[in-house]
Order: sequence, then structure tokens, then C-alpha cells
Amino acid sequence: MIGSGIAGLVAALAASTRARVTVVTKGALDDGCSRWAQGGIAAAVASDDAPDLHYADTIAAGRGLCDEAAVRVLVEEGPRRVRDLVDWGVTFDTQDGDLLLGREAAHTRSRILHARGDATGLEIESSLIARLRTTGARLLERHLVTRLLTDGAGRCLGVEVCDGDTGALRRLLAGGVVLASGGAGRLWRHTTNPPPATGDGVALAHDAGAECASMEFVQFHPTALALDGAPRFLISEAVRGEGARVVNARGERFLLDADPRGELAPRDTVSQAIWHELQRSGETCVYLDCSPLADRAAVRFPTIHRTCMGFGIDMSRDLVPIAPAAHYLIGGVRTDLDGATSVEGLYACGEVASSGVHGANRLASNSLLESVVFARRAADAALRLRAEAPPPRASSVVEAPAVASGPGDGRERARLDERLRDAMWDGAGLVRDAASLRAARAVADDVRAGCETDGSVGAAGLRTRALTATLICDSALAREESRGCHLRDDFPDSGDEWLGIWVTDRNRGLRFDRNARTHHH
Ligand SMILES: Cc1cc2nc3c(=O)[nH]c(=O)nc-3n(C[C@H](O)[C@H](O)[C@H](O)COP(=O)(O)OP(=O)(O)OC[C@H]3O[C@@H](n4cnc5c(N)ncnc54)[C@H](O)[C@@H]3O)c2cc1C
Repeated sequence: MIGSGIAGLVAALAASTRARVTVVTKGALDDGCSRWAQGGIAAAVASDDAPDLHYADTIAAGRGLCDEAAVRVLVEEGPRRVRDLVDWGVTFDTQDGDLLLGREAAHTRSRILHARGDATGLEIESSLIARLRTTGARLLERHLVTRLLTDGAGRCLGVEVCDGDTGALRRLLAGGVVLASGGAGRLWRHTTNPPPATGDGVALAHDAGAECASMEFVQFHPTALALDGAPRFLISEAVRGEGARVVNARGERFLLDADPRGELAPRDTVSQAIWHELQRSGETCVYLDCSPLADRAAVRFPTIHRTCMGFGIDMSRDLVPIAPAAHYLIGGVRTDLDGATSVEGLYACGEVASSGVHGANRLASNSLLESVVFARRAADAALRLRAEAPPPRASSVVEAPAVASGPGDGRERARLDERLRDAMWDGAGLVRDAASLRAARAVADDVRAGCETDGSVGAAGLRTRALTATLICDSALAREESRGCHLRDDFPDSGDEWLGIWVTDRNRGLRFDRNARTHHH
């Protein structure tokens, strides 16, 4: 397993009773995005809810691009997978013995399970890590995956890792590799994501020959804390679900002009309306007015409340300054219903995967669910392959140019990294056009060229980030329409000729797949 977020942990737990499992992760076990999830995990468990209703909401949010079979799997297996989490020790919030279910934007029922108020991710991560420690799985922290190993026939045989403590490179062979390396928010200047979210997995899989899909779809969260010098801490959608309102500097609500659902409209609608408001006013932020929930804000959202207090903002009394920030990578390594990629032996799940469940726009709280549902399937499929295929042999690995173990030029790399993040924010941000995307792509090309002369592991990592950025820019340029969270200033409308997905791989380049929604590859 590559990665120890919710997807990697669930895959590891699911496999650990049947196989020897190794989890490699580049930082500490709980460094990824999962730990920061606030709102919760969506599942049709309430008596007034049903998988069909969850299906309909997910399909509606996806703006015509959801893979219908994958959504069916998501909503039908979701409740069972949530029970697995409970069996593994996760405690969701209850009242009088009943699950407390939150309501979030564009869900027509209350179906968001949460834990410790707004610390859902932390509860899930810590419970699953504790459980995994009892299984005998090998846990390798501070091990960066630098390459996926393949044989001459293109089968994935394992990974090359760099041990962060010694700097040594080594190879781990595996009967099946599950890529669960998370998202890519850190490619943008402003993001809600923690430092490990640099999109490594997409580039690693691309280099190994795997197809990637829908890379133009990146969700920007509408409500990240916008204070100079502070990280873009996320103010969960659930705060709006509980009644908070978005207002401009003059205290006026403006979301109702964009959508009759106002604060509960889908994320892209809210983000775009805020972006236009900021363009119009020239301000750097709008505000969240939490006075409708003043009496319960500290109890229902303890983490957000405490964090805002740390910056001198009492959310039950003061307006909270907010602005959009890069949040979630919808596209990624293309997978089928079993998490299988186009490379034999390589599976992907969680945010790094493009399973097709989100289409052009992710419904809030569906990503944790996607992670657990497809991590389970990926683990099962990897074990089936392992039982059938011959064990991997070190002598079959195709060699690649060696990476030097020296430090390289760290200062120059940091400069290039900043340049890349600025270029992605300016050029491939919430609203893009052809010129801005070309400019961002040119910087990504420059950064990759800048890495050529520095053969260090650090340079290989930066090259990886720049490659993922390139794939995002290319797909975003190719989709000449606005749909879901892909907003083109130069192509504001959407058209039926775009009802398909952009797929790319190393050998065939970028191509449009019109059958992706209904004919699962
Ligand atoms: C602030 C915030 C709030 C969110 N709230 C919600 C919510 O309420 N509900 C919801 O459904 N979703 C939410 N999301 C999205 C959700 O948290 C993520 O999509 C999900 O946690 C992804 O899980 P994952 O296991 O795929 O990735 P992650 O949890 O990000 O884990 C990725 C792992 O891969 C490791 N890794 C990466 N690259 C390498 C490499 N090269 N070598 C080795 N290891 C590597 C990382 O170190 C990390 O351990 C939120 C996201 C953020 C940032």
C-alpha cells in the first residue's frame, strides 16, 4: 500500500487477514488529508434515506459525467463499509443511541456521519492506525515512493522507495501494489491541503504507463479562512448547512443571486459566485456570518471554533473572513470498479484515483466514502491477482536512470516550487482560460527542465509535481466548455458534445472517451 490516509489504511486492513501487507508513507502515518476531514462521511443509513436517493444526488452533482456503475457501487456498498469502520473502532457521534446525521450542500437528506463534532478525519485516522498496529502489517513511515517498478510486459512489480532517515534507495517487490497517495492541492498557492498532498501518485502511475483521466476537474473549496500569514484552514460546508450565511464586505448576502439554494448550492456554484464577487469588489475575502448558529458553534464545530479563536476571531460573534482555495482532485489514475488501473498489478483508490464517481463535481462527503468503498475492492482485487499471477522477480524489473542520493540544490528547488504553485494558482485556478492555462503549462515545462540537471531525490519529487501539473493543464485546455468545477472564462457554456472524459497516458497522449460514463472499461 502506498499512503496511509483513509484509503491506504482501509486497503491494508482489508488485506491484512489474508496477506503480508507493507504500508509505505512519505511522512508520519497521519500526515495526509484524511486527518483533516471535518464534515464527515456520506452514507444512506437514515430511515428516510435510501441508496437510490444518494445515487440521484451524486449523479446530479456530477453534471453528466459520473460513471453510473461506479456511483451505484458507491451508494450501495457505502453503508456496509461504514459498518466496517465501526467494527474497526471508529466512533461516530450519536444522540440517545442514534447516529447524528448532518446535512450538507446538494444532499437531499441528512446523511453525513461525523465524529467528535468536526474532527471526523482525525477519529477515523487514529482508530484505523491503532487497529492496523495490531495486525502485524509492516508500517514504513518517512519512506517516499520514487518510482513504480514494472517489467518488460508493463506489469507493476513493486516500488522503489527512499528511506528518509538514511537517504538510501531500495526496492520492495509486491504481488499487488495499491496506490493510495492522495490529492494534489499543494500544487496551488492557496490550498486547504496539508504538505504531503503534492499529486505524486498521478505522475508515478503516468510514468509507469497507467491511464489518467479527468485531470481538469479540481474542486476549489469556497470557504477557507482568508487571513494574511495563516494557512487556508477549511471552514466546513457543514457550517453553512447549520445556517451560516455568506456576506460581502457591506454585509449583503449575494449567493441567492447565483442560485436559489443560496448557501446550500453545490460547491462550484458557491465558489464561482464568491470569485465573481471578489472580482467585482476588488476585495480579498468575503465573510461567513455564523450568528444563526451562535448558540451551538463551539459545541458543534469545536476545531473550527478553536482555530478561529487562535486568530482572534470568535465565530459566534465575529464575521469570519473566507476565500476559495484548491481542495480536491477529482481526476487521477483511471480505475475500474475493482480499483484496477490500466497497468496490471497496479490498483488505485482514494483521492489519487479517478473512479468516475464524482463526474465533473464532487458531492461533499462523498470522498471519504469513495475511499473506503474502493479501497476494499482494490485490496480484494490485488489479492485475487496475487493468487493467480507468478510472484514478481527482481531480475524482471526494467531499469530506469538512477537517482542520485545527494541533496542537490535545495534553494533552487524551493524557488521553482514556489513558481509552480503561483503559476497554477494564476493560470489553472478556479476560473481559467486558454492563455492562462498555456502560461501555467509553460512554467510546469520550465520547472521540469530545471530538474534535469539536479539528479537528487528532491529534484525527482519536484519533477513529479510538475508532471502532474502538466497533465492538469493539458486536460483543462482540451475541455473547451465550463462544467461542474471546471470553469473556463473563454468558454462559459457547456455542450452535449463534451459528455465524455479526457484520458491521457504516456504512449497515446490525450484522447476523448465518449463512452466512459456508461461503458465501464
Ligand atoms: C481540510 C480538508 C477537509 C476535508 N473534509 C472532508 C469531509 O468532511 N468529507 C470528505 O468526504 N472528504 C473531505 N476531504 C477530502 C478527504 O479528506 C480526502 O479526499 C481523503 O481523505 C483522501 O484520502 P486518501 O487516503 O486518498 O489520501 P490522504 O489522506 O491524503 O493520504 C495520502 C497518503 O499518501 C502518502 N503519500 C503521498 N505521496 C507519497 C509518496 N510519493 N510516497 C509515499 N507516500 C506518499 C501521504 O503521505 C499520505 O499518507 C477534506 C479534505 C481536506 C484537505
